[in-house]
Amino acid sequence: AIEEPTQTLVDMIDDAVRRFRRRTALEFFGAETSYRELGEQIASAAEGLRRLGVVAGDRVALVLPNCPQHVAAFYAVLRLGAIVVEHNPLYTPPELRHQFEDHGARVAIVWNSVADTVAEFPSDIRPDHIVSVDLTRALPFGKRMALRLPIPKARRSRAALTTTPRARGLVEWKRLTSRRALATRHPRPSLDDTAVLQYTSGTTGTPKGAVLSHRNLRANAMQGRAWVPGLAEGEEVFYGVLPLFHAYGMTLCLTFAMSIGARLVLFPKFDSGLVLDAARHSPPTFLPAVPPIYDQLVHAAARHPRALERIRFAISGAMSLPIATVDRWESATGGLLVEGYGMTESSPISVGNPMGPTRRPGTVGVPFPSTEIRVVDPDEPDADRPAGEAGELLVRGPQVFQGYWRRPTETAETLLPGGWLRTGDIVHVSDDGFVTIVDRVKELIITGGFNVSPSEVEAALLAHPDVRGAAVVGLPRASGGEAVAAGVELREGAVFDEAALRDFCRTSLTPYKVPRRIELFDELPRSLIGKVLRRAVRDELIEQG
Ligand code: ATP
Ligand code: MG
Repeated sequence: AIEEPTQTLVDMIDDAVRRFRRRTALEFFGAETSYRELGEQIASAAEGLRRLGVVAGDRVALVLPNCPQHVAAFYAVLRLGAIVVEHNPLYTPPELRHQFEDHGARVAIVWNSVADTVAEFPSDIRPDHIVSVDLTRALPFGKRMALRLPIPKARRSRAALTTTPRARGLVEWKRLTSRRALATRHPRPSLDDTAVLQYTSGTTGTPKGAVLSHRNLRANAMQGRAWVPGLAEGEEVFYGVLPLFHAYGMTLCLTFAMSIGARLVLFPKFDSGLVLDAARHSPPTFLPAVPPIYDQLVHAAARHPRALERIRFAISGAMSLPIATVDRWESATGGLLVEGYGMTESSPISVGNPMGPTRRPGTVGVPFPSTEIRVVDPDEPDADRPAGEAGELLVRGPQVFQGYWRRPTETAETLLPGGWLRTGDIVHVSDDGFVTIVDRVKELIITGGFNVSPSEVEAALLAHPDVRGAAVVGLPRASGGEAVAAGVELREGAVFDEAALRDFCRTSLTPYKVPRRIELFDELPRSLIGKVLRRAVRDELIEQG
């Protein structure tokens, strides 16, 4: 178990700034920021925001890629007792507008190429103040390519004109932070105040705002600390390739890494070339990421075998981790790659594999310290399943969220009496307590009275040497129920043969599980963090008819 948190995230970062003053907190394309400088930037940004009228309980929107300003802005908002609302800076204007309408932030801190989009929101949604962060100028000329992010088409034409800071309510980050530091006596938030409003990924529907308190987020950073043995405080080098605007990157990089005085090397996007470049100067020791990133890095590092040799810990989450990826990574780096599990609503991690020889690839491990789990009937979440049987996972612990922002119905469905969080994921637990994720309840396919697990069918397809990616979904049938269908991506040079793939599936699946229809995709739709979006595949197959 972990101790009860006593520090808010504000106390935590102040403590890190004191303890690790001279050490490097942030590195961005070679430019370094020490913990002392980070502390100063947080204090002056907090003063700038106070002057814009931000008070405790206000929402402040952050629409930023990974960059040093993102870290300073995050803690400056928290210092005022205000609430950070993170956004994906590559969302389209309607997606962003929808979220601004939901949270009602009156101040936004945005990447300059998003400033026009936000400034053009209808007046009742548009924040009163937009702080614009110019990242291009911060980069050496040769590195500006790194900011060529896939900006949605709808935004591109205006993005080129970008921000004239004279537009109403527009402030440059530089000006915001050029003032004095916030007075140290300014009131501080307390543990049960809301720290972050974090939207879910939107894999199964519209993203929902999860309300996370200082206690929730501090607890998850402490649980992470207890999880990883042998960390060297003040010495670790974390690579921040996961987006900080997502729960996974936020907790691993913004809070956990900072709490142990790590050097956080920030990347505005994942690119194996950029990572290997940075590794020459500051070799990573700790890399939280997702399976496709590990695969790409192993591939790219083949020609620079020493770049990754200092990595001791790699943590994978958000989607299932293939055992082949673990083997390739561990033999290439000599470090450990272990899988954990979580969701935005649990800050996010609740289950993780031991960081050592007892970890078990193919499972997501055991409950985190101070975390309890149950496995229940998804139709009747009061009823526990007999030991060893699959069912919906419930989680309880100090990292479990406070509810969804302004969605009482969904909150009541998800947060059960007694503090149990419904995860919406079907799991089974081994006799000795290791959890295996089967599928999401919402994505189970019901065909003629049988339940089909899409991941089981995907595994059957992926076993075929030509298949690189697969997404299995249920399509509505006129006769009622659903038909199993699949979208596949093939390896280079492979030829698509639907009938042959179906025959291949028949060798491992009972007939009702074999996809009735298999369609070829050049690229399966994926979320920004890399999850295959079954929902989008389903929509596309329905549209194709
Ligand atoms: P939304 O809730 O908006 O539909 P989302 O559930 O994808 O989107 P997140 O909170 O980012 O949003 O993701 C949590 C989900 O990710 C979990 O409920 C689970 O389905 C999946 N997940 C997380 N870790 C793993 C893992 N190691 N293996 C398989 N699935 C995982
Ligand atoms: Mg979810």
